[in-house]
Amino acid sequence: MTDTTRPRLRFAPSPTGYLHVGGARTALFNWLYARKYGGDFLLRIEDTDKARSTDESTRAIFEGMLWLGLDWDEEVVYQGANLPRHQADAERLLESGAAYRCFCTPAELEERRREAEARREAFKYDRRCDRLPRAEVDRRVAAGEPYVVRFRVPEGTTEWDDLVHERIAFPNKDIEDFVILRSDHTPIYNLAVVSDDIAMRITVVMRGDDHISNTPKQILLYRALGAPLPTFAHLPMIHGLDGKKLSKRHGATAVGDYQHYGLLPSAMLNFLALLGWSPGGDREVMTLNEMIELFSPEGLQKKAAIFDPKKLEWMNGQHLSMISLEELEPRVTPAIITARLATEEELVERREWYLRLLDLLRVRSRTIDDIVRQAAPYFLEDIEYDPAAVAKNWKDPAESADLLRETRDALARTEVWDAPALEASLRGLAERKGITAGKVFQPLRVALTGLTVSPGIFEMLVQMGRDLSLKRIDKALAVLER
Ligand code: GLU
Repeated sequence: MTDTTRPRLRFAPSPTGYLHVGGARTALFNWLYARKYGGDFLLRIEDTDKARSTDESTRAIFEGMLWLGLDWDEEVVYQGANLPRHQADAERLLESGAAYRCFCTPAELEERRREAEARREAFKYDRRCDRLPRAEVDRRVAAGEPYVVRFRVPEGTTEWDDLVHERIAFPNKDIEDFVILRSDHTPIYNLAVVSDDIAMRITVVMRGDDHISNTPKQILLYRALGAPLPTFAHLPMIHGLDGKKLSKRHGATAVGDYQHYGLLPSAMLNFLALLGWSPGGDREVMTLNEMIELFSPEGLQKKAAIFDPKKLEWMNGQHLSMISLEELEPRVTPAIITARLATEEELVERREWYLRLLDLLRVRSRTIDDIVRQAAPYFLEDIEYDPAAVAKNWKDPAESADLLRETRDALARTEVWDAPALEASLRGLAERKGITAGKVFQPLRVALTGLTVSPGIFEMLVQMGRDLSLKRIDKALAVLER
């Protein structure tokens, strides 16, 4: 980038639905660019489509951005409030001759489109209103006849160096004289966006590559309005695992859904960052600060990004282990309380023990739910035995019971209840019996937790404490001997 001015970027969502994954990804890349290069990141709510825009959706956008920590600079811009400027810009284009009034009615245009189709020709507006004498135009306007304003596309080619796609060129002959102001004097998207981007002094326009075909029209508008061009960057689309455009069929696509599932915002950001960008090498897991540090437009990719929910879950697991316990605790505690494992007071009372437990459990967890599921055996009197765990590790109930009884004795005789002593006891038992240590650990794991997945057996015994551990084995024996 040769531009050394302070970059200004914006995220410009239309508030016509929730904040979806694609929008959040676009917001993140704009944000990263601004933060990396010491620029500004602005938020513009494109609420010109009054019929489809809702306050609820605007709120969902704010909430999603705040949850992710994508803070914006300056006041939020509401596009609808800029209507007078959009109209004034259209007026300027009329005055300079870059645009003209078109009185053709929708019905007439439709008729001509059908005729063109019958001749197997591509329909393009034939500019007939551009040839109307000035006096006739004035007379029809004075008579109150409705008209739209069309931009007169000049000859030549419109091209730009895209930050992602490099050089992109559109022959102007393929672009018809597009409408910029409707007959109700409201602006069409391309005019509103250019007018606002100029007014907001945006220097980098980064958005989804579904907008590539709008860009030549916007460039023509910038030129006609005498404004300097921003740099354009078109981010790749996001596809599901089946290679089709991401939709609800592929799972939750609303950022808010992930927030309510208890996903970590840092994991969501990290996952989003990899949808169309790579820091290079095999690097995947990053904190937000690392993302800022590593971000560069060179790492932006052209090919469609693939949204893999499994990867998001994996990423969440990585971040669960990465964040501080102080950060993790308030995210897990409400779920522990909701699951009725403990009250807030109990957790405060045993805070040190509780934090140690979280530290132990997070290693094998991908979600907060995983942590809660694994935490249950440390809090509850009775546990449930996962049928899969029973089938696998208590295959022969009588044999398992015998072994568990011996295990219980070995544990009960262990004087100091710490990991090295417990390890010595259990390994000693395995040796005496001439079996592998795993053969002792697995049935014990099921007895203690009812689960197949758990932290290391010694740490777990320490965390559970002598009384609860032995009580658990007694209960397992009762179940096995039933
Ligand atoms: N409101 C448009 C959208 O959501 C903005 C596109 C742009 O960034 O120019 O797709």
